[in-house]
Amino acid sequence: MKTVGLISLGCPKNLVDSEVMLGLLEKAGYKIVQNPAEAEILIVNTCGFIEDAKKESVDTILEMSGYKATPTPRGEAKGKCKKLIVTGCLPQRYKSELAKLLPEVDLFIGTGEYHKIVELLCHPEQPKEAKDPVNAIKRMGSFGRRPQDDRELAMQTINTPQYIHNATTPRKIATAKHAVYLKIAEGCFHGCSFCIIPKLRGKFRSRSMDDIAVEAKMLIDNGAKELNLIAQDTTSYGVDLKDGSNLAKLIERINNLKSDFWIRIMYAYPTSITDEFISAVQKLPKVCRYLDIPIQHVSDKILSAMRRKENGNDVRKIVAKLRTKMPDITLRTSLIVGFPGETKKEFMELLSFVREGHFNHLGAFTYSQEEGTYAAKLSGQVPKKVKEERRNAIMEAQAKVARRRNKGLVGKKLKILIEGENAGRITGQAPEIDGITFIEQSKSEAQKIKVGEFSSCVITGIKGYDLKGKLC
Ligand code: SF4
Repeated sequence: MKTVGLISLGCPKNLVDSEVMLGLLEKAGYKIVQNPAEAEILIVNTCGFIEDAKKESVDTILEMSGYKATPTPRGEAKGKCKKLIVTGCLPQRYKSELAKLLPEVDLFIGTGEYHKIVELLCHPEQPKEAKDPVNAIKRMGSFGRRPQDDRELAMQTINTPQYIHNATTPRKIATAKHAVYLKIAEGCFHGCSFCIIPKLRGKFRSRSMDDIAVEAKMLIDNGAKELNLIAQDTTSYGVDLKDGSNLAKLIERINNLKSDFWIRIMYAYPTSITDEFISAVQKLPKVCRYLDIPIQHVSDKILSAMRRKENGNDVRKIVAKLRTKMPDITLRTSLIVGFPGETKKEFMELLSFVREGHFNHLGAFTYSQEEGTYAAKLSGQVPKKVKEERRNAIMEAQAKVARRRNKGLVGKKLKILIEGENAGRITGQAPEIDGITFIEQSKSEAQKIKVGEFSSCVITGIKGYDLKGKLC
């Protein structure tokens, strides 16, 4: 039985693609191993969104190439890997140019072909020459490597992505089975000027409500206590189906499934949030009063240069409406600082909005000039140092807000999902990104706790971005 190891990088949407590849490989008789040194086939499912992510992907590919059975150009042969496969957004973005930079790789697969992993392992397809090789490498950056123009290009299957898995697709859950991701749609139609994702993930395409409900039930029967709904934009779910499907109806459908579990909604788009959706979150007991709503900025000038559909007032209105309708809702957002043309004035507008304290959780990112995006050609690019100063100022302000909001939870009795011997998450804490709740208890109490089960706790204090609580 051939052994396979897989490293999944980037966002939860990419993780679900990895889980589908693992499910298909396991069904085809491959043995999934955790230790790359034991793998005959190694897969790196990459991210190619921004500079840092691209660098992490290339570093991981090079690290995994060290496990190849045959010595690499750098001479190591630490493992028994016969095939190194690179999938995901990086090959989707750079196609055959990546092959020239990474001769260690045997097969490249795009974001729309990962479901063919088993057949491509047996019958890989011939590579297609890049239209403009030299500049492609310049665009991508050589990561300190000299492209090997003379080398025969590795096999690759990279086309315009159209695929999305369904409930019948084998999927091997890579997260704890009690907290899983449920991908409801793929691709994006927004076209924000800084974002390369529509080019990497293709046109927006939703799964049918029936199909998603079937997978949700399978995940719950498999022990899921938390379904984290993901897409590039969950709030536009169903617009392409033109059959009346939408996110409000979908969460009601999932909410009606038997069993006690949470439904959490990630990646909402401000102007796609409807009153119908808000009242669904209000009335449906299994839907967490939690929303991840990346707003990116609040300045009209910057939002328009970002080609966002909303202006600053729209952002303020939707945040105020959510807080008025559900004062206890937990809001998470993402911001970009240092976007081309952002002067001190626009930045101060953003900083004072953050200081108003609307968000429980917030991530701030420095603008990354990504070739192939409209914004990359804009004038007024902000120096790196200034971008970093602005990000630090935003995070400093948010640290105070988070502390204030967390303090407001002290003394409250809340439902908690047990994640470990002395830790869990409340509805206001999404997996991996929002901090956890440390549980204070005696040894005997600790023995009674079951990971992956719900309990309730009283919040007793805060610890940085995390909380402390006592089970009751
Ligand atoms: S909504 Fe905008 S930022 Fe998000 S994936 Fe689509 S284009 Fe990118």
